[in-house]
Amino acid sequence: MAARGVAGTYPARAGIAALTVVLLIAAAPAVAWGPAMHAYVVARVLGPEALEAVFGATLPDFNGAARLRPTVDAAIKRLTHYEFERLAPSSFATGFATHNGVWGADHYAHHYPNDVDATYYATRKIKALSARTGLSLNLAEDVFEAAMDMRVGLECGPELGRLIRDAARSVGPKEEQAIVDAFAAPLAERVPELSAEDAESALRWAFRAHKALMQAFAVQLMQDREYMLRLGAPLLARHLECDAAAARKHLEAALELCADWREEMDRMAEKVGAALRAEA
Ligand SMILES: [Zn+2]
Repeated sequence: MAARGVAGTYPARAGIAALTVVLLIAAAPAVAWGPAMHAYVVARVLGPEALEAVFGATLPDFNGAARLRPTVDAAIKRLTHYEFERLAPSSFATGFATHNGVWGADHYAHHYPNDVDATYYATRKIKALSARTGLSLNLAEDVFEAAMDMRVGLECGPELGRLIRDAARSVGPKEEQAIVDAFAAPLAERVPELSAEDAESALRWAFRAHKALMQAFAVQLMQDREYMLRLGAPLLARHLECDAAAARKHLEAALELCADWREEMDRMAEKVGAALRAEA
């Protein structure tokens, strides 16, 4: 294992890592929890040896890596988050199912507009961050979600980084084909301008792009706090339309607010595990 890096430690990889941050921040409103959080949750539910499941848990957001047309993007997201049961049973599919928006990890994000659900961790934190920074709830949500993945990365970094890297390496043509078999036909049905072949190639491209991105993201997770802040702040600044110093302050405030993430995420993992057993 290389020493925990500072900026420039991995010159050849820094560009790819930066791309990952761009992905996470730019896609944050649609992402809910980031890949580090999903990997953390699935490892709690199924154990860290379930490598295909760990990759499967990050995959429902794979449309983000592929930069597809918005209509295709929305249709894929709907399928992967709400019709995940189309995937043929396997360890990979079980991991994939832990992510879902019905009873999976993503169900516990995006609750801030609903005061009835003010007990949700994400709701409380997003509201507190918005009050502290003056950011809108939408933007506070983006910063909160980026900070949560950074938090998990900082506290579980090298270990979780290795897990995500090994998980990405463990999957290949078999899992890619399973995704095509499950989702290509309904995707083509729902996006009129997409032929069956287009739908299949969009899914294959997204799968491969996500696999490559997760390997770069794994390297990023092994970095230290200063590296993440220096890389993340200017990119976040562009998204928030403020300067890098202000973005860094927002990010630091969010990191501080979610210092108690672990207890809450362990509780969430228990609920996801119980729902998974009930579905089986
Ligand atoms: Zn998601």
